[in-house]
Amino acid sequence: MSSWLQKQVNERPDHPAFYWQDEVWSFAEVAKEVKQWTASFSLKISAKEKRVALFSRNSKEMYFSILALWELGKELVLLNTHLSLQELHYQLTDAKVNLVVVSTESLPFFTELKQLTLIEMIEPEGTKVALATEIDSIYQLNAMASIMYTSGTTGNPKGVVQCFSNHLASALATQENMKITAEDCWLCPVPLFHISGLSIIIRQLVLGCSFRLYSKFDAKLVTNDLAEGRGTVISVVAVMLQELLENYPKKGYSPNFKAMLLGGGPISPKALEKCESYGIPVIQSYGMTETCSQVVALSFEDAANKIGSAGKPLMGIAIKIVDGQAKRVPPNEVGEILLKGKNIVRTYLNGEQWQTVKWTADGWFKTGDMGYLDDEGYLYLVSRLSELIISGGENIYPTEIEHILQEFPGVKEVAVVGEADAKWGAVPVAYIVGESTITTETINTFAKNYLAKYKLPKRIYLCHSLPRTASGKLAKHRLTTREREAFLSK
Ligand code: ATP
Ligand code: MG
Repeated sequence: MSSWLQKQVNERPDHPAFYWQDEVWSFAEVAKEVKQWTASFSLKISAKEKRVALFSRNSKEMYFSILALWELGKELVLLNTHLSLQELHYQLTDAKVNLVVVSTESLPFFTELKQLTLIEMIEPEGTKVALATEIDSIYQLNAMASIMYTSGTTGNPKGVVQCFSNHLASALATQENMKITAEDCWLCPVPLFHISGLSIIIRQLVLGCSFRLYSKFDAKLVTNDLAEGRGTVISVVAVMLQELLENYPKKGYSPNFKAMLLGGGPISPKALEKCESYGIPVIQSYGMTETCSQVVALSFEDAANKIGSAGKPLMGIAIKIVDGQAKRVPPNEVGEILLKGKNIVRTYLNGEQWQTVKWTADGWFKTGDMGYLDDEGYLYLVSRLSELIISGGENIYPTEIEHILQEFPGVKEVAVVGEADAKWGAVPVAYIVGESTITTETINTFAKNYLAKYKLPKRIYLCHSLPRTASGKLAKHRLTTREREAFLSK
């Protein structure tokens, strides 16, 4: 039994560990179940097979598979179930993994990938299987625990190598920041194949808190659980938060509810106002696959005074903002965000070419995000470095323009990117999903009230949809290639 799980079994065997639908397992019961899954996998997967991929939506089977495969010391490649076959093929090839544990419902999806060995993710049959020898596994701190591909928002997804040490540091930083104890119950409507979901399992193992998993996000179900006191903490992304606000119950959430941890992107001021009026304690956060969950967070108490900020670094995380020459810039000046800390991974899979691009010689991770620190050390994000538009020597941050255009009546979605320009080097242009009557003139008559002239989009392209990654993020780089044609309204 792994030392992490064993510790919880020793300390709180009967404490509720895992909730799935109407079932609940104590830590002792989780350990028993994990033992069976481990035995079952050990019969199906040879000890030589070091790396195993997992493909499943959230389920109890997925949860037990992760824990059991870790018992066997496997490196887990967590695949996003929204990937196209082509993307899936890319990741499996890149990770050199041939063995995939697949949920029953997803098996048909794999019929075309003939070279793979598939193992169906099903419950082991009762007590029939037993381990030949007891496994004394420990999670080796420097061992690869999980490999997760980044969203590919800025290009080909990169395999992020997350070690147990990174996960452990992340759980401890979160404990300190959010005062998590074994009495907490963390609700997980986010996918386990993302760091947002997987990190909750780690917190459960390290901190002894309870964990409630959902197959998918269902605002009504989650609202009911929060109202009935079935969760003290929940992780959400912005669209989920929005839906929870729409479903907020008259009687409110249970008094034991402590925090709603928002990741992946900023909250809109309107949503924040609503959270305040309902008294929902939202913690905004900044992090990425490479940082194994949040590294910067904004408490509910600070939210009103620091609108738009992602917050302050968590315990053990250092942050600095640098200019193009890698020199630290003063407060309130925009530059690239660099991070250091034990949460942060040290390498990409097969990523020799990235090593000096993404990590400095003295160990800082270059996030590729641009932002600034205010006088009090609060971080503000302004853009991704790759999306910055330099026009006639002026820096233009697309999100600033997008926020304004979003307010224009009839605009549903908007993406601003740079387009090559003979005179200015680059100019901003906007891809918009919205009313067909929208034109460059009407938009700019509105936008010029808020934006300097050089920031006004020089062209508007109406689109039927915008390119998104498997995790739903805007994939702007696809608008700067010939691929963009596929998104334009005819
Ligand atoms: P790729 O690295 O392949 O381009 P990705 O960066 O979108 O993909 P993730 O690790 O899922 O992959 O996302 C992390 C990124 O999300 C951050 O680097 C940042 O750009 C953005 N992000 C995260 N939190 C916030 C936040 N609070 N505000 C604004 N942006 C955020
Ligand atoms: Mg990234």
